[in-house]
Amino acid sequence: MVKRYEKINPPHRILMGPGPSNVPAPVMAALGAPVVGHLDPAFLAVMEEVQEMLRAVMRTENMLTIPVSGTGSAAMEAALVNVLEPGDGALICVNGVFGERMCDIAGRCGAEVRRVDAPWGSPVDPGAVRKELDGFKAKVVAAVHAETSTGVLQPLEDLSKAAHERGALFLADAVTSLAGAPVEVDRWGIDVCYSGTQKCLSCPPGLAPITFGPRAMEVLTKRKTKVRSWYLDMTMILKYWGPDRAYHHTAPISMIYALREALRVVLEEGLEKRWERHLRVHEFLVRGLGKLGLSMLVEKPYRAPMINTVVIPEGVNDLDVRRRLLGEYSLEIGGGLGVLKGKVWRIGIMGDSCTEENVGILLGALRKLL
Ligand SMILES: *Cc1c(COP(=O)(O)O)cnc(C)c1O
Repeated sequence: MVKRYEKINPPHRILMGPGPSNVPAPVMAALGAPVVGHLDPAFLAVMEEVQEMLRAVMRTENMLTIPVSGTGSAAMEAALVNVLEPGDGALICVNGVFGERMCDIAGRCGAEVRRVDAPWGSPVDPGAVRKELDGFKAKVVAAVHAETSTGVLQPLEDLSKAAHERGALFLADAVTSLAGAPVEVDRWGIDVCYSGTQKCLSCPPGLAPITFGPRAMEVLTKRKTKVRSWYLDMTMILKYWGPDRAYHHTAPISMIYALREALRVVLEEGLEKRWERHLRVHEFLVRGLGKLGLSMLVEKPYRAPMINTVVIPEGVNDLDVRRRLLGEYSLEIGGGLGVLKGKVWRIGIMGDSCTEENVGILLGALRKLL
């Protein structure tokens, strides 16, 4: 017997986890647009627009501003592998899963890794970073802006200053924060910044915006060794995204269409308006959770609006609640990771998922289930 497969038919979900977020109709429609060649003039025009709009959304003039072919982790790897050579010092701020991941990647690049830790749920102290830099020659200082595993929004400007005082590059992970809270690449002096498509940009997962500033470009051009990843070598990828238009790898055409539309939707709403919406809906959510007697993991000044960690009350079954939310309400929220497993829920209000209506549905459901 030959197995027969039905046509694919995934359910409609309200996505309020740590990503992906719900994708708006114009972005879904762009995925169905005709595929053309990666050197077709029509596609080159789309690439230009994507770069222009990415610069606007990332608030940068950086020439090297492109989407990496891969998810956020690919951009994290691209950021580190292009900057680091074996033996270089890397100082990584760690207060959750994604800081840990940076340490892992930097180690694989052959770097000497030092870390400055903060408890999960708290920001990293720039004073501790300065102190560590006193006795350590770092080529790069790296931090996560919105730590999706804990819900902390790390202030970046002081860390950036600390890095530059010691002649190090400053690298920031804005995977979850970009387009949901201010990310000012040029104004904050971020030398390398990357994101992902499936969080506040509300595009399916599969691409990861990245930008390299002038100091990072200089580091790139002065490398003594080849970048240890062929696929993520920016000096080669730049030949395709730059004026040469030389083939490196086939661009994921349909995903780049989708990102182009997602960026258009973001700019049509207005970046500032979008930040305000995330903050407003976040406040609405926190008030509602408070009325249900639930408390937040993170202190108020450090809460990332788009990813909210809520303490699971004593006696409540984490998995059971999440299973019922999905089964009865078709609504997804995230569980805790690492040391927070079973201790918190992670409620994402990212991009298109970030509405008072969705929060109302979630609060109503929690009221019944708890
Ligand atoms: C989601 C996320 C990543 C990784 O992105 P993937 O798309 O899952 O590879 C990296 N950093 C942060 C802060 C994230 O939230």
